[in-house]
Amino acid sequence: MAEKVQSVQIAMGQINIEAAAREAGVPPSTLRYDLNKVAAALPEILVNLKPGPKPEEKATAARGSMPALEEGAPICPVCGGKVTKNGTYWVLNWLLLLTAGWLGVQRARIQRRRCRECGHEIITPERAQQAEARQAWWCQVNRLLGLSRFKLALSVRKTQTLVQFVYGRPVSIGHINRLTQRVGRSAEAALARLAACRQGVARFLLYDETYPKMKQRAYSLGVAICEQGLIRSVRCIVRKGKDIPAQLRDVVSGHFQPAYFLTDLDVLFNKYMRQAGLQLTHLRDRVHLIRQIVRLFDEAVRDVTLDVPKGLPFQDRKKQRQLKRRLLRRRLQPMLNLVFKAFTPGYESVCLLLLEGVVSQLSDPACIIQTSSVQSLTRRLHRFLNKHGPAINTLLQLAVEQGTPTTTNALESKNGIFKPFSRIAKFFPLPERCQSFFAGVALMENFDVKTRGLHQGTSAMQRAEINLDDFGASDFFTAVGLPKPQISLAHITD
Ligand SMILES: [Zn+2]
Repeated sequence: MAEKVQSVQIAMGQINIEAAAREAGVPPSTLRYDLNKVAAALPEILVNLKPGPKPEEKATAARGSMPALEEGAPICPVCGGKVTKNGTYWVLNWLLLLTAGWLGVQRARIQRRRCRECGHEIITPERAQQAEARQAWWCQVNRLLGLSRFKLALSVRKTQTLVQFVYGRPVSIGHINRLTQRVGRSAEAALARLAACRQGVARFLLYDETYPKMKQRAYSLGVAICEQGLIRSVRCIVRKGKDIPAQLRDVVSGHFQPAYFLTDLDVLFNKYMRQAGLQLTHLRDRVHLIRQIVRLFDEAVRDVTLDVPKGLPFQDRKKQRQLKRRLLRRRLQPMLNLVFKAFTPGYESVCLLLLEGVVSQLSDPACIIQTSSVQSLTRRLHRFLNKHGPAINTLLQLAVEQGTPTTTNALESKNGIFKPFSRIAKFFPLPERCQSFFAGVALMENFDVKTRGLHQGTSAMQRAEINLDDFGASDFFTAVGLPKPQISLAHITD
């Protein structure tokens, strides 16, 4: 450092100040004064120069890439002719649209390079980069469309607004509709693929029909899930007797071989199951069983008969009937409480015994006066227990021993998920369209990781232990052919 300053000082000492001042046309005193200032600042100047080379390196590298570009395409790949610059043109700046679409539509100037001989246009790197960004933009927008349609339940027009807001450019209604259909069909195929994947053992098939408010449509949606809450099939039911057995037949296959069929009390489900060629043990939902018994009690109260003297005015007869109903309800209430108790957790082993106890109390004149409505209640409850007794025992035993469900609540909560989408679905005139749309909603739901509740932190796919390698996708978007865009970071940071 010191010697650097010294060598410069020596060099400056050798300057012929008189001659230099004469040549520059300034007074020698001024030049001497200025040179002294330089000499005083020398240590500073020489130190500051030290970190200098760094920015220089960068500058040369940047400059170096430009000639490389020009040298890269001097000869036409088609005819070998000379390529020259041929004006510039503006294109949409897809890179900016992708990364900062909210800025609004931006354009970028592209240098055109064209062969002088044949007119072939050379694709310049900046053009290739914009093309890649354009592809990435569409890729990402399509993913947003998938999210908007199958998770957020937004209409086509709201989806359009969302895309415009985030990415600065609208997409057409037609594109949104076509994409929705494409994703729906892929999702349908993906659901059909589930049974073919290796998976954890599922012993239950829960099935129900749901009616997502489809305006003036004469069809319902049949939904099948397993005890893990994984939606395995959705189908538009147009003709029940044909479509439900077909759906059941299709859903039970491959690695999904349940032993139990859990539904509500609809008598036809048993018939449909047998039509599908399935030999599952048919169990009924606990909530529906209780509700049915409550209904029997309600009807007994409603159907009280009156034994009053002739000629009693209508108003008095009415009062008498209401009184009798009130009294009967009070008599029946302890027995109904016993029914509720029988179905509470902890009483599984004695549930049927308690219910049979209710029947014998009902038929005991010491307990309750044997009016015709009470006798009818006894008869109907007895028949109910004969019919469902063994299934109730199996249902509760399995629940205690293996923690399997006793209700179709999981299924009904799925129906709740489909509801908001019916607004969209009713715009699909064909059942097939509707079905594939709901398949998309179902697949999205299957991959949805719950943020609260009993299954917090897991998705139905995880709980059912579906082998994702067999399935061929690890999330909804890849499963329906909407993978993340592949864009090199270099293009964005350059
Ligand atoms: Zn050429």
